[in-house]
Amino acid sequence: SIEGAGWVELREPDVAVEQTGPQPVVAVVGRPNVGKSTLVNRIIGRRQAVVEDIPGVTRDRVPYDAQWNGRAFTVVDTGGWEPDAKDRAAAIAAQAETAVVTADVVLFVVDAMVGSTDVDEAAVKMLRRSAKPVILVANKADNTSIEMEATSLWSLGLGEPFPISALHGRGSGDLLDAILDALPEAPAIVENRPRGPRRVALVGRPNVGKSSLLNRFSGEERAVVDSVAGTTVDPVDSLVEIGGQTWQLVDTAGLRKRVGKASGTEYYASLRTAAAIEAAEVAVVLLDSSEPISEQDQRILTMVTETGRALVIAFNKWDLVDADRRYYLDKEIDRELRRIPWAIRLNLSAMTGRAVDKLAPALNKALASWETRVPTAQLNQWLTALVQATPHPVRGGRAPRILFATQAGVAPPRFVLFTTGPLDAGYQRFVERKLREEFGYEGSPIEISVRPRK
Ligand code: GDP
Ligand code: GDP
Repeated sequence: SIEGAGWVELREPDVAVEQTGPQPVVAVVGRPNVGKSTLVNRIIGRRQAVVEDIPGVTRDRVPYDAQWNGRAFTVVDTGGWEPDAKDRAAAIAAQAETAVVTADVVLFVVDAMVGSTDVDEAAVKMLRRSAKPVILVANKADNTSIEMEATSLWSLGLGEPFPISALHGRGSGDLLDAILDALPEAPAIVENRPRGPRRVALVGRPNVGKSSLLNRFSGEERAVVDSVAGTTVDPVDSLVEIGGQTWQLVDTAGLRKRVGKASGTEYYASLRTAAAIEAAEVAVVLLDSSEPISEQDQRILTMVTETGRALVIAFNKWDLVDADRRYYLDKEIDRELRRIPWAIRLNLSAMTGRAVDKLAPALNKALASWETRVPTAQLNQWLTALVQATPHPVRGGRAPRILFATQAGVAPPRFVLFTTGPLDAGYQRFVERKLREEFGYEGSPIEISVRPRK
């Protein structure tokens, strides 16, 4: 028996995952009872909460995360499509049509034991209008004789039927291969990348104290380099121990050679800063607490957020901050750092060593936020409640609706909202703020994009 063999495994949440672009969407459509939810459970490996377990979320249109052969996609289960349905059934049918509109690929499920019905033929017309790629699934083909009969489903005009048994697993690998072929450039997942030391950029304008802070950690450096076997570290990087953990500080060569430091132009320094941020996973931006937050500080902070790296802001030279300075600094922080309230802030002194031990926990926290993945079902449960409580404001008699959301990637967390139309910038900011309130993301930027249905 091939039951269970090669079935899609759900990603473990703590595994490093990198992927680009929004996750493609597969909608599962068909008459009630043809086996759609059985098929969806097969595809997601039954690892996620079954829908009935989630209060407030009906079976109407529920997205799940799935992956096959290293490619991730979202599966949307639909309750069942009937052309002449009344009331609640009609609402479910309408949702199935919506799911088709937002999908990249449609799995049209037919009961192979029954063969095609009038309702199936009506559904085919609806699918034709949508002009989406459709894969015809002949479910309940539990044995070879039903499988043979399934060939009659060619008559539906959707091409070759895929005979499968969602219940027993038969034929499912071929179906998943066909799904991947039909998906638009599905993002690749690179999993389990070898976990060497985390890469940190120590950046800030000249004289904020970067070299001084680096020197604080450099005592153990030689020993650490020898003990980390098999890691390739760029010669311009430093491996240092901070808080009992080994970190790779990228592009610290310039901080060590004090001669080279003086000779660089500001333009060159800024390129170097950008390259270090690019190479890092998390950036420590040092500010001189004894001086006003400057435009140059702001440019460096912007580089970090635009590159999508985790961020810790270190207010260095805290030993120079008296009550008077503290008063003005608080005002500056309110004014100048308003756009990044999520950044982790530390008040430290490279000179006295104050709060330097807080750096490693701050880096770990920022990186954890940066790599957080929220399961799709949980995300949508939260989103459904949010848009119910605070719908999008009405504009010109119409209000766009958010149909559902998926997390397209991590590092940093990226979300895609599927909507009936473009969202107001203000409402999008509201969703981001609420998303942070719910799921945290302290120390990490997050990205939200909107995909209005065509
Ligand atoms: P949905 O309404 O389309 O989501 O259908 P369900 O997934 O709830 O399945 C309806 C019924 O068909 C259930 O009793 C399933 O156990 C059964 N079923 C689903 N897939 C198969 C299959 O491959 N073979 C057989 N024999 N029964 C199946
Ligand atoms: P870099 O250009 O960012 O690498 O800055 P340096 O590490 O060379 O520091 C610039 C100056 O600030 C030096 O004179 C340091 O001694 C001084 N400095 C660095 N950190 C501190 C600190 O925490 N407190 C005080 N008072 N001075 C500091």
